[in-house]
Amino acid sequence: MDDKVSVPGREKLATAREDAVGLREKAVDVREGSVTMRERDIRAAEMTEGTSDDQIGLLRQANAQLVIATIDAHKLAEQVQTAHADLDHLAHHDVLTDLPNRILLNDRLAQAIALAHRRGKQLAVMFMDLDRFKHINDSLGHAVGDRLLQSVAQRLVGGVRHSDTVSRQGGDEFVLLLPDIEHAEDVALSAQKMLMALARPHVIDRHDLHIGVSIGISIYPDDGQDAETLIKHADIAMYHAKESGRNNYKFFEPDMNARAVQRQSIEAGLRRALERQEFVLHYQPKINLLSGTIVGIEALVRWQHPQRGLLEPAQFVSIAEDSGLILPIGRWVLREACLQARAWQDAGLPPITVAVNTSALEFRAGDFLEYVCAALEASRLEPRYLELELTESVLMRDAASADSVLHALADLGVKLAVDDFGTGYSSLSYLRQFPINTLKIDQSFVNQITRNPDDATLVSAVISMGKSLKQRVIAEGVETAEQAAFLLAQHCDEGQGYFFSRPVGAEALAILLQTGVSPALPH
Ligand code: C2E
Ligand code: MG
Ligand code: MG
Repeated sequence: MDDKVSVPGREKLATAREDAVGLREKAVDVREGSVTMRERDIRAAEMTEGTSDDQIGLLRQANAQLVIATIDAHKLAEQVQTAHADLDHLAHHDVLTDLPNRILLNDRLAQAIALAHRRGKQLAVMFMDLDRFKHINDSLGHAVGDRLLQSVAQRLVGGVRHSDTVSRQGGDEFVLLLPDIEHAEDVALSAQKMLMALARPHVIDRHDLHIGVSIGISIYPDDGQDAETLIKHADIAMYHAKESGRNNYKFFEPDMNARAVQRQSIEAGLRRALERQEFVLHYQPKINLLSGTIVGIEALVRWQHPQRGLLEPAQFVSIAEDSGLILPIGRWVLREACLQARAWQDAGLPPITVAVNTSALEFRAGDFLEYVCAALEASRLEPRYLELELTESVLMRDAASADSVLHALADLGVKLAVDDFGTGYSSLSYLRQFPINTLKIDQSFVNQITRNPDDATLVSAVISMGKSLKQRVIAEGVETAEQAAFLLAQHCDEGQGYFFSRPVGAEALAILLQTGVSPALPH
């Protein structure tokens, strides 16, 4: 992300460097020119005994030229100096925002640490990362993204003391150095101030842009003795701020380090997991509540980790999403699920729809449609037997472009479901406009329907809404007979949950397809 904004900076730096070299060469030329001239004059004077008027005139002329050349050389020397100063500024500042860059921040931080050490004082480093900046950059263009970064930079500078340093690390990351703090609480106040300063909308190109920021804080000497460690720990704390809901701040805690290390080792393992064929799919049946038959299955990925055993998505999917590895993993899941569904049909089992979870990154990748087609072709699975599950946030975040992809998928014959319905925010008009086949009521509501009247009301409302939108409604996370009975009474079409069957391996599912699920259905 940072490359996009820093490339012009690099070009500018290169041009300034070339200019300075050019000027220096020019100054040397001029100086050498005047030296040659002087040598010529002296030789001329030596060669003759008496000097004629002509020769004196010539000498005067040469002298005058020498003076001009010297002045030129001086001017050029000044220009060289200015160019050097520009070069120095460019080397230490970010071109887009003119804030100190990583190099200057490191210098200042090292000095501040030395000073704090001598005086026995504390200092703070704040690592800031804008929330969902990439989304703005992608949807409104880099020009708007750049101006938003400039506006953020101005607000940050306006919100700190003169002695503080606000630097841009690249992309949408800023690092602040607060060299003079008495208590950690002061830093918390500064962080709150920053959050508030950035909360006001940024008006850019008639857009009112709202952008949050996640802040991680590390304190010298407790959280690190050197610049690198302090920045690293502030970065880790920032990551935790992001994970716990964004637009807030977190102080570094030592056990965050252990978790960061674990995350890194999971990420490194994920990189190798595909080629080592460590992923497996489990399948969970979806049951028609009235007939009790299996009407579909959901493919759920598992990772057979060589040391840690079978890992569930909660332990690796978000890491795969953050690192982009979800793209190749998602492609594998899609292909494998289609191949398996087709294999069951070829084996003579009743044809059923297989649902595949699709994360935001996959859905927005330009070639998503291609991969869906490729998986269908490779498996020879009819498109109507494939369903894609997308969450509300994936659908609503960029509704206009989602709409065209969804219609292209629907035209293919692929089915579409809204996963975890009720946990996000949905626009009713989009829900009507999108070619959605199924609403999956999130398990957190289903869980409570027999205990919490509010959840019961909500589930009933979703069921009737689905009916009026002509969408199938399926309840996730059905665990008890009472829940199944309630859903049936509310005319919910389908249910999925441990009450009917846990997710199982492909072989076990083939048996379920033959025998049906076992719970005594409440009717
Ligand atoms: P989801 O799509 O909402 O899947 C349902 C999750 O609920 C599954 O967890 C399933 O095992 C669990 N579940 C099913 N019935 C019950 C029940 O009765 N009670 C309870 N407490 N839980 C139940 P799982 O397999 O751990 O997957 C979690 C999430 O990970 C999924 O939520 C989905 O968002 C994501 N995920 C799973 N596989 C993939 C995948 O291949 N690609 C992507 N992008 N995400 C995946
Ligand atoms: Mg799902
Ligand atoms: Mg779900």
